[in-house]
Amino acid sequence: MYKDILKELSIEYERKRDRQLHEQRIRKEKVYKKIPAIKRIDEDILRTGLSVSKYIIGNPDNYKESVEKARKTIEKLKMEKAYLMTESNIPVDYMDIRYDCETCKDTGYLDNGNQCNCLKQALVSRAYKMSNIENVLQKENFKTFDINIFKDEPLEMKG
Ligand SMILES: [Zn+2]
Repeated sequence: MYKDILKELSIEYERKRDRQLHEQRIRKEKVYKKIPAIKRIDEDILRTGLSVSKYIIGNPDNYKESVEKARKTIEKLKMEKAYLMTESNIPVDYMDIRYDCETCKDTGYLDNGNQCNCLKQALVSRAYKMSNIENVLQKENFKTFDINIFKDEPLEMKG
């Protein structure tokens, strides 16, 4: 039962992340269309990151300097980008991915492997829903509420 809910939720979390990535892509495309220079900057940032990664692999004992150089280059590019965006009245974080839960970035898990509170909360509320108590409480007011409705159904949740 618990495992079923957890599985269901992990699929939902995955879909959520896909949706957010998709929405981020749409926002990016919008900005790129409006300000092509930003697209070039993003490409430069990506290229710089990739080339420094390659350099680290090729020079495992002697890469600090070039990492530092790359970091400065990326910082400069990001500042240019922020400037261009501000100039066009676009919020600087407009192209960032937007998580429902910043703590776990919608993975449901923390870095240490523990469940995030949002996942714990989702588990509880899903279990609550499945127990059907919510429905019963909504349908019945206190006058008609009959505790016997619970009698035929085992208290254990179906799963
Ligand atoms: Zn979370």
